[in-house]
Amino acid sequence: MSNLPRIISWKSVFLLSLLIILAVMSLQTPKPCQDIITYRIGKVDDRFGLTRQEFALAVNMAAVMWGKPLGWEMFREDSSGAIEINLVYDYRQESSDKLKKLNYKIDNTKTSYEDLKVRLENLHTEYNQNSAELANNLSMYNSRLNAFNANVEYWNIQSGIRESVHKNLTQERDELNALREKLQVRQDDLRRLKDTINSMVVVINEIATNINLDLVNYQNTGNTLGREFCEGLYENKNGKQTINIYQFDNDYRLVRVLAHELGHALKLNHSADTSAVMYRLIQSDVIELSPNDIAALRKRCDNQ
Ligand SMILES: [Zn+2]
Repeated sequence: MSNLPRIISWKSVFLLSLLIILAVMSLQTPKPCQDIITYRIGKVDDRFGLTRQEFALAVNMAAVMWGKPLGWEMFREDSSGAIEINLVYDYRQESSDKLKKLNYKIDNTKTSYEDLKVRLENLHTEYNQNSAELANNLSMYNSRLNAFNANVEYWNIQSGIRESVHKNLTQERDELNALREKLQVRQDDLRRLKDTINSMVVVINEIATNINLDLVNYQNTGNTLGREFCEGLYENKNGKQTINIYQFDNDYRLVRVLAHELGHALKLNHSADTSAVMYRLIQSDVIELSPNDIAALRKRCDNQ
């Protein structure tokens, strides 16, 4: 009898420890649907032309999209939030900005890819022609300049200069100056053309990556998260969660790419349904979940 209280006590200690371990485990891994996932706004590059508040508003709209079907809050902004969300400006947005200024239509489609490729080939031809012509004209200009300089030198060492010769030299000097200015303008045009070609190569490669990865993913569906999505990226490294947004064509697409990455934060995989937010490519301006997204969310929440 004297041992009994000790046995109960050991059992209680064991049960209590188990409860504490379970409680700590549930604190460390917030479960979507049960716990609100918190996020914070990190770096917002002002070259996108968005204020911090506007970006935060876009993130909020994306967060609300996931909460709406189940009627509760899934994500909440918090200064010490678990997911850091950044707007990162790099060559991707810069290149598409440049092309957009030149009225190029850019989309993650094969049509857009083929169209840009034809335009790129034309620009290459144009560049090579202009470049060869300019080189030719520059060499003619240089010969003319050398002849002019030699002429000036000759007349400088003479005792006097005839008025007609002086007039001719002045005229030649003015013509050479005008020619140099024209050549400089053409050089600037050529540099801009090269810049456009470079931007185009970046964008074409980006689209090609998307299209190719689309094909790759059809071969091994459902075992990748995030990586192939070039406009944005969700990462969970050593418990540190980040969402980086690199590129978007308009405000709707920004909300959509944010919703896509938040979907990954909810541990959702890609959907084969092209109208789904969780489809691997951004091809729509719709900022609502598709029935397919909602089904995936419900399945995810029921399986916990
Ligand atoms: Zn993705």
